Amino acid sequence: MLLIRKRIIASALAVMTTVCLLSSCSAGWEDLESVGTGSGDSAPSSEPQDQTGSAGNGTDSSSAEGSTIQTGGKPEINPDDWNLILVNPSHPLEEITRDNLVELTVTQKSNGNGKYFDRRAAEYVVQMFEAAKEEGINLLSRSTFRTYNLQKTYFDSHVNSFMAQGMTEDEAKEKTLDYTAAPGTSEHHTGLAIDITTSEWEADGKGLNDSFAETDAAKWLKENAHKYGFILRYPKEKESITKIKYEPWHFRYVGVEHATEIYSRGICLEEYLGELD
Ligand SMILES: [Zn+2]
Repeated sequence: MLLIRKRIIASALAVMTTVCLLSSCSAGWEDLESVGTGSGDSAPSSEPQDQTGSAGNGTDSSSAEGSTIQTGGKPEINPDDWNLILVNPSHPLEEITRDNLVELTVTQKSNGNGKYFDRRAAEYVVQMFEAAKEEGINLLSRSTFRTYNLQKTYFDSHVNSFMAQGMTEDEAKEKTLDYTAAPGTSEHHTGLAIDITTSEWEADGKGLNDSFAETDAAKWLKENAHKYGFILRYPKEKESITKIKYEPWHFRYVGVEHATEIYSRGICLEEYLGELD
């Protein structure tokens, strides 16, 4: 009897230790910062939902589709679902949190920032990369979650480089906004967006440009990403809606059902959510 009780206590201690070890991993990421966007000046007051940290609001975290309910074969669109969060120039994030992030186990750019992804969707990144690998395509995570400050660093460096080419500050900012979201309005703040290239692409020192669209990887992603819950977020023919130039490398997790619907209808996320400016 005593032995059994000791075993029970030992098991309980083992479980507690495991839980502590797991929970400590989200507290010790020194290369990340938890920051607000400070966007009180730009955030529209109509922005209703708590856009981050929504795992505890009743959503079944074991479901890739969040609380989405299917009706008549089509997924129901609930804009409050964590996987349907809209972040764009007119929908900035009010808070950027790393609460739901986990480390991706896929190949990453060595000096990139493609390490952290939303834990509710990370397994689908892995599945997509594995499926591509079976086709001989070596996908690489170049950029995923970004803090406000990291986005600001990217944004400012583009502005500065355009100004160095002779543009005024306003011209440089306008040009930068074609491809780079202003801090606080980047989908990368959500942990649900990923810039994907390939190991070969990076080994050749190629950057993010339109010619990536011609690669087998980009073609494969365009036709298959929805099977893993991802959409090509900034299609060429939707530039006037997304306000972002074509990015054949940028994919966004929305869940398999929504992604399949968006893919088959040939629309972008703004159209899907009925959020056209
Ligand atoms: Zn991106």
